[in-house]
Amino acid sequence: MRGWSELADRVAATTRTSEKTSLLARYLAPLEEPELRAAATFLAGRPFAETDQRAMGLGWATIAAVVSNLASAPAGALGEAYDRSSDLGQAVAEVLWLRPEEPDAFRWPSLTEVAATFSEMEAVSGAAAKGAILADLLRRCDCLTAKYVVKILTGELRIGLREGLLEAAIAAAFDRPQPDVSMALMLTGDTGETAVLARTDRLREARLRLMHPIKFMLASPAEDAADIVSRLGPTVWVEDKYDGIRAQLHRKGDVVRLYSRDLHDISEQFPEIVKAARGLDWDGILDGEILAYAHGHVLPFLKLQARLGRKDPGAEIQSEIPVIYVAFDLLAVGPRTAASTSAASTSAAAANCAAGNGTANSAVEPLLSVPLVERRQRLEALCLPCADDGGRFALSHQLAADSAEMLDRVFDEARARRNEGLMVKDPQSGYLPGRRGMGWLKMKRALTTIDCVVTGVEVGHGKRHGVLSDYTFAVRDESIGRLVAIGKAYTGLTDAEIAEMTRWFEAHTVRQLGRFRQVEPLVVVEIAFDVIQRSSRHQSGFALRFPRIVRIRSDKSPDEVDTVATVERLYRDLQLGAEYLVTAGARQSRSPASGPA
Ligand code: AMP
Repeated sequence: MRGWSELADRVAATTRTSEKTSLLARYLAPLEEPELRAAATFLAGRPFAETDQRAMGLGWATIAAVVSNLASAPAGALGEAYDRSSDLGQAVAEVLWLRPEEPDAFRWPSLTEVAATFSEMEAVSGAAAKGAILADLLRRCDCLTAKYVVKILTGELRIGLREGLLEAAIAAAFDRPQPDVSMALMLTGDTGETAVLARTDRLREARLRLMHPIKFMLASPAEDAADIVSRLGPTVWVEDKYDGIRAQLHRKGDVVRLYSRDLHDISEQFPEIVKAARGLDWDGILDGEILAYAHGHVLPFLKLQARLGRKDPGAEIQSEIPVIYVAFDLLAVGPRTAASTSAASTSAAAANCAAGNGTANSAVEPLLSVPLVERRQRLEALCLPCADDGGRFALSHQLAADSAEMLDRVFDEARARRNEGLMVKDPQSGYLPGRRGMGWLKMKRALTTIDCVVTGVEVGHGKRHGVLSDYTFAVRDESIGRLVAIGKAYTGLTDAEIAEMTRWFEAHTVRQLGRFRQVEPLVVVEIAFDVIQRSSRHQSGFALRFPRIVRIRSDKSPDEVDTVATVERLYRDLQLGAEYLVTAGARQSRSPASGPA
């Protein structure tokens, strides 16, 4: 593990991609399983594979207690060190440096010992038991190794290693084509496994596996209709951009799982969808969005929110906030097994569809490289038991647009229905897991913005640890004549703007409280957001979802910022919720596969 940590330090120290790749390739090439598996998994910045559902559950307090104990340092030592670098691994190394002596080299743990200890730590329950295992491990580590053990444990490796770079390094280490490495990683979702397959020349044996979530395809932002049509056209497919919970549905017989965008199993939160999917008569993988839906309408996200994170929701909440699965893609499918007897698929449409199906076969066909136009046809042919017939499914509503004017018109219509935007897809595109490619574009403009004044700033994280990049901002409460906080934003400004503002805020600090500085309320920022919620977290009584800084309004003075009354009015408008269209019954299907609707 010490050798791995030295490598990580050297990779972090260079900004040159080619040097990073060759350092990594030279390190990985001589390794054999199981060291290779552990080394590659750790380079992906995780204690376990990406698709592994295990979570370490180790909190800051446990790490702080273990580290200060080992170094006989005061309880606040780790916090102070962290304030200097905003890097927990670095802070741990600094505190452990206070130990009277470093452990002897013969006691240093190997890569596989660290991997085994991570498994052990995850398997025990309770902070005390986890802390004891961590203490045993760190006792054997020198400072450099301890730094990286903690970085991996907390998922904050930060050595400037993008996934593509790691793929290139694995390809170079074992002299394999990089596309084969990328494809194997997409299918397995496991960097360690991919490295082992590369070493033994078995990359092409990687298979998409049911109950192993694959990364989601993402969309790149775009605003200009003419640009979108020229990039994806001549004909583009347009879908509503639903505001629900993205979920990948895997089915294999009676086993059904729903995975969230971060690949966590969220099946227990939506038992009614799981039950409905059990009633299907094919195995495979769908991509789609979970939405609250009642009486033929999608309900606002605020309704769905009441179900977020709630495991095993009771009958009452299930009937109060019914949910459906709106499928927009089919990633793998097996032959129809047999007409299901489940109530979930007895709708006329599903029964029609089930007729004339193929023979039973448990193998599923991956469809990732098949064009969207064909994936959609095959999705429609599944005739999912639809919401309007008492089922739990719908298909995304689609239109085909073949000009910028038409796309603009559809966008305006969506905005009139209070949708934040549209998803525009290239019908010829393949499904690229984990990529924010150009096959899907999200066309969205902020619903509205508010002007706020910055009242506090904090040093950022990662590459922003030396600058004041996290802003707390406020609006004016006219009833009490004071500024009241409404949120925090970390994104939106350029590095140059942040550097300039850092100097300004340092000179205008009123009070410093640890990492936080209260500053003179003089800088006005325009803030874009997706949703306003009532919240007791901030003095204003409101919180913004996904706030981002649009620009600094140097043309505005602090007494021109928006008021709580304005926020209240916007909140009431947004309460009405967006209207989304779904294709809930076969009769309403308006697939552009058969031409523009
Ligand atoms: P964003 O979260 O703004 O990056 O937008 C991407 C998200 O839009 C995806 O992760 C999906 O959850 C969501 N989404 C909503 N509607 C669709 C759709 N019709 N097709 C694909 N993704 C969609």
